[in-house]
Amino acid sequence: MLSNNTRIGIIGAGAAGLSAALALRKKGYKNITLLEKETYAGGKCHTFYYQGRNFELGAVVIPYCSQKTLDIINYLGLKVAPLTKDRAFFNSSGEQIELISKLETIKFLWQVFVKLPYLQFKYIKIFKPGFKNINNELIKSFECFCKQNKLELFEKFSNSVCAAYGYGYFDKVSTAYYLKFLKLPLVLSVITQTGFIFLDGSANV
Ligand SMILES: Cc1cc2nc3c(=O)[nH]c(=O)nc-3n(C[C@H](O)[C@H](O)[C@H](O)COP(=O)(O)OP(=O)(O)OC[C@H]3O[C@@H](n4cnc5c(N)ncnc54)[C@H](O)[C@@H]3O)c2cc1C
Repeated sequence: MLSNNTRIGIIGAGAAGLSAALALRKKGYKNITLLEKETYAGGKCHTFYYQGRNFELGAVVIPYCSQKTLDIINYLGLKVAPLTKDRAFFNSSGEQIELISKLETIKFLWQVFVKLPYLQFKYIKIFKPGFKNINNELIKSFECFCKQNKLELFEKFSNSVCAAYGYGYFDKVSTAYYLKFLKLPLVLSVITQTGFIFLDGSANV
């Protein structure tokens, strides 16, 4: 066990560095130095202002399944705001995108509740930390993976949502990233558009 006065250096004051520093402080360590190359803390959790509006470069929404993040928010007494339900997605021509039609609902739910969990179970090692030793199948794009595994409605629904929130398009990002990240509680939050909060004052996308 290290003494409480041990000098600890943390590189980067993004969410990871700041939460590591907070966890160490809670454990009683007093001699912590956080080194940050920018002139502000927060890393990708950064707001910039343009023409009177604020825009987020990184984290915007916090799903209720991110319990550790919620614990930190409560501990710091930060204000939160619920997600408004009047949201819609538009393509680059300004037309509203219909995520899933009523006729497609049953097939969509089958893909979300049966096929996706089955594939996540098949590649269960993906939930280990990091991306070391992942199956070669998971290096291909998520678009390609969805087509091969007949997840086309899940792809149609979540591609618009993930792209709108800034996670990239499915033809550009590897399957490993999305399989790890799109756990059922999060997918449910996205479908019901209920299980999310914002930090108060951040942009409500
Ligand atoms: C577009 C987008 C949307 C997102 N939306 C959400 C969301 O809605 N909800 C959510 O929970 N998450 C979201 N995320 C993810 C979330 O923003 C990131 O996972 C999180 O901010 C990463 O934190 P980090 O500390 O790991 O890395 P970073 O935020 O990248 O922090 C790293 C820090 O280290 C500093 N640094 C790097 N090298 C050095 C060095 N040599 N010396 C000193 N300092 C250094 C950097 O300047 C930076 O401040 C989103 C991410 C993106 C890109």
